Amino acid sequence: MNNLDEIINHAEQYCTKHGTRLTPKRKQVLSSLIQSQKALSAYDLIDLFEKNFGEKIPAMSVYRILDFLETEHLVHKLSLANKYIACSHITCAHDHGVPQFLICGTCNDVKEIAIDKATIGDLKNNVEDAGFHLVSPQLEMNCICHSCAAKQAE
Ligand SMILES: [Zn+2]
Ligand SMILES: [Zn+2]
Ligand SMILES: [Zn+2]
Repeated sequence: MNNLDEIINHAEQYCTKHGTRLTPKRKQVLSSLIQSQKALSAYDLIDLFEKNFGEKIPAMSVYRILDFLETEHLVHKLSLANKYIACSHITCAHDHGVPQFLICGTCNDVKEIAIDKATIGDLKNNVEDAGFHLVSPQLEMNCICHSCAAKQAE
C-alpha cells in the first residue's frame, strides 16, 4: 500500500487534470477515508474529522464533499451499507472499470476488486432476459473474510 502523501498527491494531480480542485476540506475527508482503511458512513466521517482536525464539519458539507469525491472516482459509495470507501486505485494509471466490492459481514472489512467485462456482460444479459434493465453494475457482495472464517472455525 502506498503512503498517504503519495495517494493524496495523485488525487490532487488527478483533479487538476480534470479541471477541478482538491480543496483542503476535500483533502481532509479523503485522507480520513484512506487512513481508516474501511468503509465509513458520513456520520463516522464527521466524528473522525473532529478527532483528526479538531474541527466540526456540518453534515451537508460532508455529503457535498463525498459527492465530489465520488464523481472524481476517488471514493466509492457502497449503496447497501450506505457507506463510503476510498478507491484503492487512486495511484494506478490503468482503466478503472466497474468496481465490485466484497464486504465481510463480521468485521466490515471491504475489498475492491475488478470483475472482468465478460462476466459483467453476462450479468447484464441475464438481467435483460428477466425483463429488467441494469442501472448500476456495481456489485456489493455479502462475504466473510478468511480471517473471520478462520476464527469462527476455531
Ligand atoms: Zn476504485
Ligand atoms: Zn489499480
Ligand atoms: Zn472479516
